[in-house]
Formats: sequence, C-alpha cells, structure tokens
Amino acid sequence: MKVYNTMSKQKEEFETIEPGVVRMYVCGPTVYNLIHIGNARPMIFFDTVRRYFEYRGYKVNYVSNFTDVDDKIIKAANEEGVDPSVISERYIAECKKDMASLNILPATVHPKATEEIDGMIDMISTLIDKGFAYRAEDGTVYYRTRKFRDYGKLSHKDIDDLRSGERALLVTGEDQKEDPLDFVLWKPKKEGEPYWESPWCQGRPGWHIECSVMSRKYLGDSMDIHGGGEDLVFPHHENEIAQSEAATGNEPFAKYWMHNAFLNIDSHKMSKSAGNFFTVRDILKKYDPQVLRFFMLSAHYRNPLNFSAELMQNAENGYTRIVNCAEDISFRMEKADKTGVTPDEEKLLEEAGRFRESFIEVMDDDLNTADAIAAVFDLVRFINSNMHEGASAEYLGKLKDLLKELTDVLGLIVFREKEELSDSGIESLIEERQQARKDKNFARADEIRDTLKEMGIILEDTKDGVKWKRARAT
Ligand code: AMP
Ligand code: ZN
Repeated sequence: MKVYNTMSKQKEEFETIEPGVVRMYVCGPTVYNLIHIGNARPMIFFDTVRRYFEYRGYKVNYVSNFTDVDDKIIKAANEEGVDPSVISERYIAECKKDMASLNILPATVHPKATEEIDGMIDMISTLIDKGFAYRAEDGTVYYRTRKFRDYGKLSHKDIDDLRSGERALLVTGEDQKEDPLDFVLWKPKKEGEPYWESPWCQGRPGWHIECSVMSRKYLGDSMDIHGGGEDLVFPHHENEIAQSEAATGNEPFAKYWMHNAFLNIDSHKMSKSAGNFFTVRDILKKYDPQVLRFFMLSAHYRNPLNFSAELMQNAENGYTRIVNCAEDISFRMEKADKTGVTPDEEKLLEEAGRFRESFIEVMDDDLNTADAIAAVFDLVRFINSNMHEGASAEYLGKLKDLLKELTDVLGLIVFREKEELSDSGIESLIEERQQARKDKNFARADEIRDTLKEMGIILEDTKDGVKWKRARAT
C-alpha cells in the first residue's frame, strides 16, 4: 500500500512502526461554534482511512483532539456572558452529534486540551531545559525556532525566507522575542481569561504545544500518521515537529504526513463575511447525511472539492443508485425460494470478486476514494444485471454481503434496518423539542415533530406536558 507523504512530496510504501498497528493523530476542531462543512472533510476522510486500515486487518489507535481553550472560545463566552467551558462543552456535544449523523466512528481517544495542561507544562519545561525555549519578561514562553536545525522540513520552507506575521506567530509581547520567527508555547492571562498556574506565569498554552503533548501521551514518541487539512502544514504542523522532536530527541515525530485539500463553495473560499458559510447542520436540513458523506468521498482527498447544489445533486443520485440496488437485492433475497448456489452462480460470484480486488487496488494507491466509489458502481451495475429470475438465496446473499463489505469500508450506510426508536430516544427528542420551543427555535421544534411523526410517534401537548404514543400500537 502507498500513501502520499507531505514530507517527501511522494507516494511512499506504507509500513507501520509496530507490526499490525496503525497509530494516527488528526487535528480536531476548535469548538466555539457548530462545525462547518469544511471541517467535515478531514473528519470523514480520516474516518475512512481508519476504516480501511481496520478492513485490512490493522488495529488502529486513532486520536483526535478538541481544542477547547482559544481566543475565539473566550470571545464567544464573553458575548454570551458564560464561562468558556460552557461554550466548548456545548460545541463538543454538538460536534459529536454531527459526527454520529455522518457515520464517523468515535476516535479511540478524543483528548481535550484543557485536560492535558500538566503535560504541556512538562514539555515546555523540557524545552527550556534543553535550550529550545525561553521565558520573556512578561511570562510568555517562546520556542527558539532557529535552534531547531530542521525547521521548515515539512512545509519545504527555507527558514531564512520566512517572515513573522503568520496567524499563530503574532501575539502579545511580540517585541520581547529574540527572533521574529519564535512562536508562543505559553502566554500570560489577560483580564477575564481562563488560566492555569505554571512556573512562568498564570496563563494558558499556545495552540501548537497541545497537539505535540496529546499525540505523545496517547501514541508515544513516534506515530505512523499525522493528518489534518492542508492549512495546518505551516505553521501548525511544522511547529509540532519542532517541539516534539526537540523535546523527545526522537525522530521522526510522525512517519507519514497526510493533508486533505480544501473544500470550497461554488469555487470560492468559504467565509462568513462572504455569506457562503455552511455548517454541517445547515446542510443536513436539506440532504441526507449519507449524501454529504458520499459527496466528500467522491473526490480524491488531495484535490480541492467544490461544494455546489449541482454536485450535491449528483452525489444524491449516485448514493440513491447504490441504495436502490441494496433494497432490490434484499427484497429478492427474502423472496427467493431456491437454496444452494448453482455452478453458473458460482462463476458469477467469482466475477463479482473482481470488484473487491479493484476496490482494494485503488484504496491501496493513496486512499483513492473517488475510484473506490467507481468500483462500487461497477459492482452495482453487475448486481443489477445479474439478479436473474429464480436466483438462489445464497447467491443473492453473497452479492449483498459484498456490497455491504465495500460500502461499510467507506462508512456509507446503504442497507437501512427499519429501526424502532426506543422510548428513551423518543423522550430525549421530545426534550430537545421543548428546549427548541423555549429558545423560540420553532423551525427545529417542528422538524423534530415531523421526524417523530415519520417514525409513527404522535405527540399530544397537554396541560401536564407532552404525551406521546406510537401510531402503530402493537
Ligand atoms: P479548525 O477548527 O479551523 O482548526 O479546523 C479543524 C480541521 O478542519 C483542520 O484539520 C482544518 O484543516 C480543517 N478545515 C478547515 N476548513 C476547511 C475547509 N474549508 N476544507 C477542508 N478542511 C478544512
Ligand atoms: Zn494539531
């Protein structure tokens, strides 16, 4: 199997550090708002990478953090007049709901920055002891960038060409830096900000040190894959390397660096001020979450992906084509009265196996999900033209299993069980509806009522509160 490594700018043969185990870390979102559809791209893609490794027999230790202390979180908290943890906890919970809708498996661990402060203080102390960091007069601790000889090796930048002024480099106390390239490891608190005690001042960690510390704690000094969106290559990942390799004395911090390209809207960069900003929640009001997942995987992860109504329509058509085939084959299998695979069917099954092989071949070539979807379409076409009259149940069952096997690797749900909602599930939706009404979010309240109605649950607003019953009483 080959993966493209941002470090070498080449596809490289993939070999894990520890046989049979993949250790991967993917930078997660800063939680001050609902996640947007750009954030969903790395989440869906790397979830698929994890699923594929598991499919190929690896054990995967997948770590993805939540950045829950940050200027934007503090700003949102001040605007609402609440503690920053109220904001971060709220949006972690909302993010997990979106992940569940998109069939993104929970990571092995989702560490939160605020719960790992001691580790950050330890690593910063080590960096100071080794001469890679220093405390400025106001208590800020800076990383001494030029001391790390390999600085720039991931982003292929020459340190002498670098200028300060990148987003994470500019901070308070700029004038106290020894060199404009030095970046912050620890910064003093400002009035009204959350802070922790440290040997340098009451303050909080810089963003880059979080990921160095959390990845080391859960994955060790070296990991197999470090991932994230391509905007993180510089300075975030470059700084993570500088911190981790200097602190541990161990190289490489990560063996393979994988970065997804950006998602744009109608060929423009998504931005709030341009009015083309969509949360996952916005999009899921209009589309099935599986359509959004299908859409994200329909391009190779290193190619930019354009979000438009037309491309979403294509995704919906493509996804529906697979679901129709899945429903058709399930229906025929239930109705089939013959058992035992015939010799002719045996041959057809052998032919169908080819689609698994091509699926694996393209996924082995740097996780080409676009071509993997094409292989699934080939299988769908094959199934549609080979569900012959009088086919045996076993034969149909094997085709069905193959379709499920491949769509499961992509995390696409195409076989839907007709599920009954549990009583507690119904009650929590009713609670959410009550809250939405209190918040005067009537659109959401009506949406929940409609969802429940579709599932055969009838609500009755009485003076003692909301009563409910199942329409199809059994
Ligand atoms: P952030 O919360 O901005 O740190 O982003 C969390 C993750 O989403 C990072 O891996 C980013 O690189 C990624 N990301 C943010 N915006 C986009 C976008 N428009 N397209 C693809 N990935 C994105
Ligand atoms: Zn990170």
